[in-house]
Amino acid sequence: MTSRPAVGDLRRARARVLDWYGPRRSLYPWRRTRDPYRVLVSEVMLQQTQASRVVPAYRAFVRRYPTLASLARAPRSEVIAAWNGLGYNRRAVALSDAARVIVQEHRGRIPSEPELLARLPGVGPYTAAAVASLAFGRAVPAIDTNVRRVVARVLVGVDPVDAASGEVRRLAARWVDRDDPGAWNQALMDLGREVCRPRPRCERCPIRGACRFLADGREPGPSARRRPPFRGSTREARGAVVRSLRPGSATTLGTLVARTGLGRPRIVEAVAALHADGLIEAGPAALAGSPRGCVRLRS
Ligand code: SF4
Repeated sequence: MTSRPAVGDLRRARARVLDWYGPRRSLYPWRRTRDPYRVLVSEVMLQQTQASRVVPAYRAFVRRYPTLASLARAPRSEVIAAWNGLGYNRRAVALSDAARVIVQEHRGRIPSEPELLARLPGVGPYTAAAVASLAFGRAVPAIDTNVRRVVARVLVGVDPVDAASGEVRRLAARWVDRDDPGAWNQALMDLGREVCRPRPRCERCPIRGACRFLADGREPGPSARRRPPFRGSTREARGAVVRSLRPGSATTLGTLVARTGLGRPRIVEAVAALHADGLIEAGPAALAGSPRGCVRLRS
């Protein structure tokens, strides 16, 4: 158990983080809006995808579906196709379902309470807190892996694996900037991603003077496991299958193999996985690997 960080220390460190964050405030299009719908779209897209890849996909998506109502009306197969290129297409299905739930259960208005947000399809506690703080100014911490690392190191003085998650949550909640919790959450995420990485870059850190981890001369633990390579992965094959399908029309497995150039065994495996996840519909012949078997985006 560590001693409580003094209120003044928290305030000073917070001010330094926000100063550092200043030039990044309008770096991405979703940081220039508080429209709850656009914030929700961006946060779902940012799950598992880097911001630089999200920018063009986000722009195209909100151009095609400018309002929550337009998204709720769109067939799921079209939404999956509009997700094109981002991968992890289950997020598109969940976002499409969430839009319909919001229309049916919340009269088309995205709720501001994190507890209600977290009940929407595809919205976990982190995304719920991010939307609540960014779009509605709710003073709740959005704790992802990066934020957990910063809070554990600065305020507890250890790497996150050695910190009790309850304590990290409690300290993160005390540290939130009540005036602009959305900017604060973004700032802490950026700091964790760019500076307080698994191998921290303390020499360029704006709060190195306030960090217990650095003051105690701690060494970071082994780096987080590296992500497996994309090329040759099931993820690559799944993305290629979804990109090759057109909303509303069926395609044969043989055509998919020809279009993707990935080879039948990989396409059969990807089709089976996408079918099991409910993203596509595949007939028994396609699931058995027959080139004439039919596959279509789920309507
Ligand atoms: S001083 Fe180092 S360990 Fe502490 S928050 Fe900054 S980068 Fe992380």
